[in-house]
Amino acid sequence: MLSVRGLKKVYQTDGGPIEAVRNLTFDLRPGELACLVGPSGSGKTTLLKCISGLMAPTEGEVLLNGVKVSGPPKKMAVVFQEYGRSLFPWMRVRENVELPLKNQGMPKAQRDKLVDEALEAVGLDHVPMSYPWQLSGGMQQRVAIARAVAYQPEVLLMDEPFAAVDAQTRADLEDLIRTVWRKLGVTVLFVTHDIDESVYLGERVIILSSSPTVIQEDLVIDLPDERDQLNTRSLPRFTELRHHVYEQIQLAKAGHRPAAAAH
Ligand code: ADP
Ligand code: MG
Repeated sequence: MLSVRGLKKVYQTDGGPIEAVRNLTFDLRPGELACLVGPSGSGKTTLLKCISGLMAPTEGEVLLNGVKVSGPPKKMAVVFQEYGRSLFPWMRVRENVELPLKNQGMPKAQRDKLVDEALEAVGLDHVPMSYPWQLSGGMQQRVAIARAVAYQPEVLLMDEPFAAVDAQTRADLEDLIRTVWRKLGVTVLFVTHDIDESVYLGERVIILSSSPTVIQEDLVIDLPDERDQLNTRSLPRFTELRHHVYEQIQLAKAGHRPAAAAH
């Protein structure tokens, strides 16, 4: 459904060209929850900007259902790390969630229904009339998630969405993502630098090398589908997987390139 082919991105700067992403190729199946993990500076945000059509790759292409992405596709939604900057402070929670639907020209009754459902799904149905700045960081990020959910995307891209919230909130939000994903059947690409988070959330973890970035490994996460913070994280298999991912990232940092494009 989502296909990244030979993606390369070189930024032209005053100090010369910076090769952020060297060569990335992978496919996401419909309804899959894949995590992409890599150290900071490994081109994760660059990749998401290319996938979401906000920026053109230098080489290669992104296909959504076989169609080349050349601008923001209607069927995609993105949740960024900086929720503080992604919500409009002068709009109430409801209005923030409703905005993309309004822009689509969706009738009011249908909008109201989707907004109500999305706020309920993220546990914010009690604060629809609040302003974002009246809410905690975790709640603000829930608003951003609700907005993406209400939009009913086929593909949901998330760029380190929980990096700025406290550990407890983060655990809750991780579970929220799995719940929403299972309920909606949406295809999710979740980007993080956090190894534990990638293993806990994903059905699959795509491990990036450091910059200039290639895929170090594409790993299947064979943990039970039912996950919970206490039990899943104490499974021996969880420990093995996180150990493996950690090791691969260390190898990548030390300059060990995968033998072939790992798949
Ligand atoms: P990540 O999200 O994994 O931390 P980024 O995609 O933000 O990585 O950045 C990857 C590399 O590209 C870094 O070396 C960064 O400095 C560089 N980079 C990112 N954005 C720009 C830009 N707009 N102009 C020049 N270099 C950039
Ligand atoms: Mg980033």
